[in-house]
Amino acid sequence: MKKHHNNPDSCTACTVCIANCPVTAATRKFRGPKMVGPTLERMRLSQDDIEPSLEYCSNCKNCDMSCPSGVPISTLNMLARAKYFKNRKRSLRDWILSHGEKMAKLSAATPGMANFGMKMSRGILKKIGISDKAPLPAYASKSFSKLFKNLKQTSYPDKVVFYPGCFINYNDPQVGMDFVAVMQANKLEVIVEEDFVCCGSPLVVNGFLDEAEENAKQNVQILKKWTDKGYPIITCCTSCGLMLKQEYQELFHIEGVAEYAKHLYDADEFLLDLHDQGRLNTNFGTLNEKYMYHAPCHLRAQGMGLPGVELLALIPGLDVQDADAGCCGISGNYGFKDDKYDISMEIGSGLFKAIKDSGRDTVVSECGTCRLQIGHGANVKTLHPLTLVRKSYEAYHK
Ligand code: SF4
Ligand code: SF4
Repeated sequence: MKKHHNNPDSCTACTVCIANCPVTAATRKFRGPKMVGPTLERMRLSQDDIEPSLEYCSNCKNCDMSCPSGVPISTLNMLARAKYFKNRKRSLRDWILSHGEKMAKLSAATPGMANFGMKMSRGILKKIGISDKAPLPAYASKSFSKLFKNLKQTSYPDKVVFYPGCFINYNDPQVGMDFVAVMQANKLEVIVEEDFVCCGSPLVVNGFLDEAEENAKQNVQILKKWTDKGYPIITCCTSCGLMLKQEYQELFHIEGVAEYAKHLYDADEFLLDLHDQGRLNTNFGTLNEKYMYHAPCHLRAQGMGLPGVELLALIPGLDVQDADAGCCGISGNYGFKDDKYDISMEIGSGLFKAIKDSGRDTVVSECGTCRLQIGHGANVKTLHPLTLVRKSYEAYHK
């Protein structure tokens, strides 16, 4: 269904979005997507009418996916949240959670000390509203940018541009390294632009819309430069992908996004496309292993199906079962907040149960914070699908 930008009037009050909102199901504190989104938007158009329960929307996008009338409910919510904060003081908690890239750069010289400090200061973090139970990500000892700079790639005529995003860059660089290895196995050289900045997703969900728009403008310029030259852009993070491809258009209406978006791919989607064109390296070694799979909400919101599941099905011996049990509850940094932690765990409870019932001890998923939440809630190991693709290529040569 095509979305009608910022127009609440296409809502027919069918209530389908309410039935699909995981936050509405988990807490009575949230008045639901129909009321907080299009219904109140009609008031907001004429007066400064803010519904306090708006803060409970996690921007998971399940309402948008389900709405038969194409109402951009989550976008209405995020724009209203930004309007609410326009003339109000923001909490230190929300500033810290929104500025992960700044925090990571400050910690870059001594990530070990920063991790130790974070562990020791969970009591202080709780005082400012960050849950002491939430699975906060640790900083990696070396960022992806540093590792990539020291990596010797084989040069090939075909090249792709990689947008790593903050989580891969500062918390989980191995996913980025697995991505490069998989591209190299497909005779593709990887380019990483140093001037890319945070996609802005954490800023948007906390109401820092102006800063997110600045980031968007910078990223759009770079993305357009490469796609104009004919290079595909690839992400391994589904929230970054959704932001760069879709939310920049819905929130900021920046020119040029629609053109480059056609050349922006999720890594699994890109590899499946190569396969469809008969260009994928299918020298996969056998992996006699069993995994569960979790589809992040921000992957499903892009309407590309489950490319990770299809890709992994090409690997001989590999048994991957889609958990198909809804949202994990974390929604970026939503579940890190003290007043949202229990809600996020309640939302994820169905998924955690499905994983535990499966008896499988490792879950594959594209989203870094989904992986954190699943590891925490279901007590299992987690991987990005590309880690298995790389492992299978390496197994072929053993
Ligand atoms: S699903 Fe769409 S049309 Fe139905 S109530 Fe929600 S916003 Fe309105
Ligand atoms: S974005 Fe998610 S939490 Fe927010 S209203 Fe929609 S379904 Fe509910």
